[in-house]
Amino acid sequence: MAEETIFSKIIRGEIPANIVFQDDTVTAFRDISPQAPTHILIIPNKLIPTVNDVTAEDEQVLGHLFVVAAKIAQQEGIAEDGYRLVMNCNKHGGQEVFHIHMHLLGGKPLGPLLSQ
Ligand code: 5GP
Repeated sequence: MAEETIFSKIIRGEIPANIVFQDDTVTAFRDISPQAPTHILIIPNKLIPTVNDVTAEDEQVLGHLFVVAAKIAQQEGIAEDGYRLVMNCNKHGGQEVFHIHMHLLGGKPLGPLLSQ
C-alpha cells in the first residue's frame, strides 16, 4: 500500500492550498514555491506514487490531467504564448513528492528544457 503524501491532505482540504480546479478525478493547485509566473500542480485524486506505478487502469485519469492542464492554461491566459508540462520520476527526475503530479509552468519564456 502506497504511503500518502501531503498532496492527499490537500485533495481532502485538510491543509490549505490555492486550489484552481477540482473534480472527481483531478485536483490542481498553485505550487508553494513557484518556478515561473504560473506554476500549477495538476494531480490525480487517486494516489499513484510515481510514473513507474502507472497501469492501463489509469489511462483515463491521466488523459484527464491533460484536458485540465489545457483548460487551466486558457484560464491563466498563457495558452497562446505557450507553457511547459513536466512530470518528474524518482531520484534522477528530481521527484520530491511521491504522488504523481504534472507541473504546468508558464507566463514567461522558459528557456531550454534542461539546465545542463
Ligand atoms: P517534484 O519535485 O516532486 O516534481 O515537485 C514537487 C512540487 O511540490 C515542488 O515544486 C514543491 O514546491 C511543491 N510542493 C511541495 N509541498 C507543497 C505543499 O505543501 N503545497 C504546495 N502547494 N506545493 C508543494
